Amino acid sequence: MPQWDVLVAGGGNAALCAAIAAARAGCRVLIVEGAPKFYRGGNTRHTRNMRCAHDHATDTLTGPYSEEEFFDDLMRVTGGNTDQDLSRMMIAQSKPMLDWIQQQGVRFQPSLGGTISLGRTNSFFLGGGRSMLNALYRTAQGLGVEVRYEHEVVALDIEKGHFRSATVRHPAGTETITAASFVAACGGFQADFDWLKEGWGGKAENFLIRGTPNNRGTVTRMLIDQGVRQIGDPSQCHAVAIDARAPRYDGGIITRLDCVVLGVVVNQNAERFYDEGEDIWPKRYAIWGRLVADQPGQQAYIIFDAPNIERFMPSLYPPISDPTLAGLARKLDLDPVRFEETITGFNAAVIGGRPFDTNHKDGNTTRGLAIDKTNWAQRIETPPYYAYPVRPGITFTYLGVKVGHDARMLMADGTASDNMFAAGEIMAGNVLGQGYAAGIGMTIGSVFGRIAGQEAAKHAA
Ligand SMILES: Cc1cc2nc3c(=O)[nH]c(=O)nc-3n(C[C@H](O)[C@H](O)[C@H](O)COP(=O)(O)OP(=O)(O)OC[C@H]3O[C@@H](n4cnc5c(N)ncnc54)[C@H](O)[C@@H]3O)c2cc1C
Repeated sequence: MPQWDVLVAGGGNAALCAAIAAARAGCRVLIVEGAPKFYRGGNTRHTRNMRCAHDHATDTLTGPYSEEEFFDDLMRVTGGNTDQDLSRMMIAQSKPMLDWIQQQGVRFQPSLGGTISLGRTNSFFLGGGRSMLNALYRTAQGLGVEVRYEHEVVALDIEKGHFRSATVRHPAGTETITAASFVAACGGFQADFDWLKEGWGGKAENFLIRGTPNNRGTVTRMLIDQGVRQIGDPSQCHAVAIDARAPRYDGGIITRLDCVVLGVVVNQNAERFYDEGEDIWPKRYAIWGRLVADQPGQQAYIIFDAPNIERFMPSLYPPISDPTLAGLARKLDLDPVRFEETITGFNAAVIGGRPFDTNHKDGNTTRGLAIDKTNWAQRIETPPYYAYPVRPGITFTYLGVKVGHDARMLMADGTASDNMFAAGEIMAGNVLGQGYAAGIGMTIGSVFGRIAGQEAAKHAA
């Protein structure tokens, strides 16, 4: 007789949704979270919102967002690289999720304004991700779920697709835990630099990890090594440009920079390398991590001038500034002559003349540059001049384990696993072959978490 009905590995949104669903189905549930209590909940701590389909405006959402529109958005951002059946199912299940998650104690607030306008599509957590997590932990523990912190899964005993036990390391030693069903919700592998290098090569050394250092993919690796089917490739992930001065891990949302559209971006050769005005910022912010990753030293600099300093949400760190372009270049360790050439060349190419409006493509362009800026082009001419250094900030990776509609893991030979389920980042690659739409990480965790918990409970019964 197994010690537990359901063992859940991980302590973020996906794990908690699974644990609550299983507990509500009458199961004895144990959560083993590798992190200490203060850091419980990995990347979920940093979140602000979740994307769910809905038919009508609500107190906190400004209008309807149909399943079809959600699906179209997903197809656009992934370039069709998604399991379409599974994604449609997830989107359909995101509708009842809006109510279900509130029934578990989570509260929403109206969307804040800002550069990534999501007021119609995304529900914002009142108090942010930590508050959301606290609500879920409170509910889970109220239902009798036992939570053990600093309990890291270090080995799995799986035989022919059947989970038997997990070995867990904790401050007092190691322990083997048996359960009728197993839910893996341990996040991606983004904090394992060796694994990142399999997709990115040596460049990965210069990446920053926006979230927890604890998502190292150890459970993903064990599952794949023991016959679970892998999905996704190691270079696909969500990566944005973040302040280069951010800590290596856990810098969170306050290190992000949304000011690319307001100026130009140069690399360490003081050269521009991409159209900063390609599309409105919400549609383009997630490409800049990859773009910067391809630049020398994986570092770039967003450059703008005095009138733009109030137009965006700053990062935690102050911008670097100087009254002259040459002085700014020296502070950034860039060749001042080359830098001035780039900026004056850019200024000379600005056509402008239309009302400046970052909410829409405003048609203010440059003309004649090797890489034109196709919207929001304005001269960088009013001192002081400002710069933010940026590096690729990895949010989470997509390579993981393959699941079916019931969140059950599939084995490499195509059979369904007997009693192993997965939710959240660890199986995000089923939905996200590439690309990202804001708020979908939490949709994946919540919807598949809930299903994984229900199905794990059915199996245990
Ligand atoms: C800065 C930032 C902002 C974000 N903002 C948003 C947002 O607003 N909306 C959105 O949808 N998404 C957002 N995301 C992405 C989102 O955080 C994730 O998609 C989501 O939280 C994943 O949930 P999860 O439960 O799968 O993983 P996590 O919440 O990361 O939980 C994984 C847990 O597994 C534990 N763990 C790892 N290995 C082991 C092991 N071997 N044994 C036991 N436990 C282990 C970790 O300690 C961790 O607690 C953001 C991410 C970051 C970094």
